[in-house]
Amino acid sequence: MFLEPSFRNQRSGWIEVICGSMFSGKTEELIRRIRRARIANQEVVLFKPRIDIRYSDVQVVSHDANSMSSTPVSHARMLLDVPENTNVIGVDEAQFFDEELPAVCEQLALRGSRVIVAGLDMDFRGRPFGPMPALLAMAEYITKVHAICHHCGNLATHSYRLSADEQTVMLGEKQEYEARCRVCYAMGNIMDLK
Ligand code: ZN
Repeated sequence: MFLEPSFRNQRSGWIEVICGSMFSGKTEELIRRIRRARIANQEVVLFKPRIDIRYSDVQVVSHDANSMSSTPVSHARMLLDVPENTNVIGVDEAQFFDEELPAVCEQLALRGSRVIVAGLDMDFRGRPFGPMPALLAMAEYITKVHAICHHCGNLATHSYRLSADEQTVMLGEKQEYEARCRVCYAMGNIMDLK
């Protein structure tokens, strides 16, 4: 389990990334860290991309209905508008942000903020997703969380799309995706015939 390096006396900020497949608990982990920062009386803000309108326009909502108030933004550079004394900046669904997000997170960390970014590391084709690979390369701390494979019960790292829709940005719902391990993901549609 991730333990915060410090809540006090931070001379500079840093970047944490929480990544994994769908249903792996990324948002729950982000919310857990934000809650702990609030207990420590930290100034905290939470953002999400405006595209993610699955459940609520202003809440970061995880699949198990844990929720927390957040600000939807349409461009990564809007994060730079936060007050300079903000201790902790959370970003959910980071894979849907534009390519400026890594540079923006770098600036925020240099200002002294702790930046916690949660997002899908791979899209449903198994390819690195949006700004996530760059963020993973730049982060001081990385936590990869795992779902459970819907077919075999092993640890799942892949998001398998049940729908034939080829659009990469399709908002996640349980009926449209399954978490799968590497092997069951590779077997793909063969398993759909069972
Ligand atoms: Zn499996």
